[in-house]
Amino acid sequence: MELLRTLETLQFDNSYARLPEPYYQRVSPTPFSERPYLVSFNPSAAALIDLDPDEAKRAELVGCFGGSLLPPGSDPIAMLYSGHQFGVYVPQLGDGRAILLGEVRNRAGEKWDLHLKGAGKTAFARDGDGRAVLRSTIREYLCSDAMHGLGIPTTRALCIVGSEERVHRETIETGAMLLRMAPSHVRFGTFEVFYYRRQHEHLANLADYVIEQHFPHLAHVQDASERYARFFREVVERTARLIAQWQAVGWAHGVMNTDNMSILGITLDYGPFGFIDDYDPGFVCNHSDHHGRYAFDRQPSIGLWNLSCLAQALLPLAQQEPLKTALDTYEPTLTQHFDALMRAKLGFRESRPDDVSLTTDLLNIMQANRVDYTNFFRALGAFRSGPDARNEPLREFFLDRAAFDAWAARYRERLRAEGSQDEARQSRMQRVNPKYVLRNYLAQTAIEQATQQRDFSEIDRLLTLLRDPYAEQRDMEKYAAPPPNWGKHVVVSCSS
Ligand code: AMP
Ligand code: MG
Repeated sequence: MELLRTLETLQFDNSYARLPEPYYQRVSPTPFSERPYLVSFNPSAAALIDLDPDEAKRAELVGCFGGSLLPPGSDPIAMLYSGHQFGVYVPQLGDGRAILLGEVRNRAGEKWDLHLKGAGKTAFARDGDGRAVLRSTIREYLCSDAMHGLGIPTTRALCIVGSEERVHRETIETGAMLLRMAPSHVRFGTFEVFYYRRQHEHLANLADYVIEQHFPHLAHVQDASERYARFFREVVERTARLIAQWQAVGWAHGVMNTDNMSILGITLDYGPFGFIDDYDPGFVCNHSDHHGRYAFDRQPSIGLWNLSCLAQALLPLAQQEPLKTALDTYEPTLTQHFDALMRAKLGFRESRPDDVSLTTDLLNIMQANRVDYTNFFRALGAFRSGPDARNEPLREFFLDRAAFDAWAARYRERLRAEGSQDEARQSRMQRVNPKYVLRNYLAQTAIEQATQQRDFSEIDRLLTLLRDPYAEQRDMEKYAAPPPNWGKHVVVSCSS
């Protein structure tokens, strides 16, 4: 039988806390002023650290992840970083309200950071209160597992602990803590802070640490400058792949500041994110992003901008030329991955020269007709390629039927060119075109039930649903519906 762990027998191995003091502040969580309670527990995240899901029934779980108990073996710290926020360098950020309790090693040898968000003020809190509100922890909790279900690299989340402690945002809300998990919470901004402080030794130690822990295949590269350049090249590759996946699934991060960019190329720091409903490439999900810096269609170029900041920070460690060469691989890598993902969404097995224009033209008519992004691609699987097929259900997505018919004729030709079989193509397409995504209105419904009625069942329902977004799930049809009128323009602010 598999051996599961309890809170007391988790295997901590706190490598970041063994680095010297400049990288962090030692600090313990501040317990809530009001009694904490479990809001939701995610058994699939628990499995990552071999934690027995029955531990969710113990009061000690609420203690450990509600900030009033420390799991034995933890060594809590707040990590230092800085970063470019909306294009402007901010010399000191750091975990202002999140505390890295420690790193847990599972039986497979993987390590997971246990990172408690909303755990109280740290030395990096600036004017903040150190808290997170229940609303924002629910959004992060659900979306990180939804992204994982979609196959997109991301942080995960183990549980939410709530309380009646009052937290002031635009209105008065209640505080909650989210236990976030990731192989690492090092960000681009973790490098930037030592570059701008001219602490090049710390910078080199950080790079060595990250390479040893997360890019061990590079640790043997003798020439230090080459080692750092190759490390950077891999970060470029991972970031390009990640953003290609965001674009293909129709997801906007909302706050792509360099302090929110993971050095491992995983989705990090869920704030005012959003999945696109009606296809609109200029979609801005962050209410505070007045100039649309982080609009959906700007994400690829912002990724490059952010990587340039990281390259700059690595200049004291590596030659300029190989860093630049690595940066130059970003756009072709992203394009190649994006094109491959879109080909799969369209059901093509082969790659043909006109595929890009076929995709672009489809996106253009989808935009002009405000077609639901997720639902159209899902429905496209049912396209029938016979000469008499009218594909009426697909036509109905478009006001301008003639535009769809013209595109469909080209699509039919393209399918015929590779000898595509309708049935086989549909089952292939259903594995890449999700039926369910965490639309804002779905998250909002779960949030309202939780905050107004203390009913957390919708959170658990969505968590289960979104774990398997490609499957047709019984009695869950309504969760695939586009937003009702009230849910079309749910305003998501930065406040969290
Ligand atoms: P975010 O916008 O969540 O990525 O946070 C940007 C920076 O502000 C990070 O340094 C956070 O730790 C800090 N921060 C955000 N909210 C709070 C808060 N309520 N209290 C303390 N620090 C915060
Ligand atoms: Mg952040």
